[in-house]
Amino acid sequence: MKILVINCGSSSLKFQLIDSDTEQCVAKGLCERIGIEGSMITYSPAGGEKEKTVTPMANHTQAIQLVLNALTNEKTGVVKDLSEIGAVGHRIVHGGEKFSTSTIIDDEVMAAIEACNDLAPLHNPANLIGINACKELMPTTPMVAVFDTAFHQTMPEEAYLYGIPYEYYKKYKIRRYGFHGTSHAFVSKRAAEFLNVPYESLKTIVCHLGNGASISAVKNGQCIDTSMGLTPLEGLIMGTRSGDIDPAVIEFLANKEGMSVNDVLNVLNKKSGVLGLSDNLSSDFRDIEDGYFKGDENAVRAMKTFCYRVAKYIGAYAAAMNGVDVICFTAGVGENGPLVRSLVCEHLGYLGVTIDEEQNNKRGDDTVISTPDSRTKVMFIPTNEELAIARETYRLVK
Ligand code: ADP
Repeated sequence: MKILVINCGSSSLKFQLIDSDTEQCVAKGLCERIGIEGSMITYSPAGGEKEKTVTPMANHTQAIQLVLNALTNEKTGVVKDLSEIGAVGHRIVHGGEKFSTSTIIDDEVMAAIEACNDLAPLHNPANLIGINACKELMPTTPMVAVFDTAFHQTMPEEAYLYGIPYEYYKKYKIRRYGFHGTSHAFVSKRAAEFLNVPYESLKTIVCHLGNGASISAVKNGQCIDTSMGLTPLEGLIMGTRSGDIDPAVIEFLANKEGMSVNDVLNVLNKKSGVLGLSDNLSSDFRDIEDGYFKGDENAVRAMKTFCYRVAKYIGAYAAAMNGVDVICFTAGVGENGPLVRSLVCEHLGYLGVTIDEEQNNKRGDDTVISTPDSRTKVMFIPTNEELAIARETYRLVK
């Protein structure tokens, strides 16, 4: 069965068509600037040429229509007609406490996703628009919602509650939810498979280090803690996000700089992280890495602070699980950044971690980067959120 995976943002839409039998991507692409002047669609069929077309897209329905046209195009398309697309899997950012697993989309599910809009005001409304647009154009095709938060719903209360009055949890559901769940689930399962150990008996720490970064503790096949919170601002230092800070900084900065709470949150979301720490050198780890090797003090500061925070969380999660068998790095930096992996692991001697730098400098598929006698295994595993969404979709509709 061919499964269309849709990741819909407010003005962009990423798509992949995946064959559930071979698990290969048949075609993929991106619609950008939806509803804005200069909209364009990029389309790459597997093994074919990538094409970019500037064309108006007034709304998401028009964008999805263009995606479907591209997929069924006589010359460059990959399916004869839409009946070949067996199901659509939608990435949904926030499922609140309602969704602990993926689910077939019906009216009730749509309403429940909408009820989580408050928790993810930038993402959930856009995700819903994507579902509605697909429903309009493919009314009989089954659709599945796969939530970023679902994998983390197994966290125990002591991990998800904040130390604030309990009434705010009861009234507003303020708590840790966690994100990147599809990736944390995919990578932790893959680690168990690769190591040939039952998933249910492994203690894994997954470091998803991309522009957005989060880390999770997966014990015996269940997530027991993760670093992102009510929103994706908490936890690790990221490309432009601060991660953990003293909440009192918000008022302090607002007073000193004459900013509103919104202004300060904008700083914490968009101007902080390695970008802010490097004194605006870059939010891109390739630049930070280059600068580090040249001895640029801004890059060194950003790199060391970033890695120290990751290492601190690994320590916390090793304690939370009473041990750790395998530490996995994934996402843009986790998969491609030997320097980050190496600097993080320098802090992990107490876990018996020793790194084989030759292995660490490799790129590509799942690779063990610790030495054979390392007490804790360390690996990098490329994540594949689209494939994970396609698998979930197939599981529910087959
Ligand atoms: P997101 O999906 O959160 O936008 P990604 O997982 O794509 O992010 O990761 C993007 C980050 O990965 C960027 O900071 C980029 O610099 C980094 N990255 C990509 N390739 C490399 C590389 N070869 N070395 C170091 N960092 C890399």
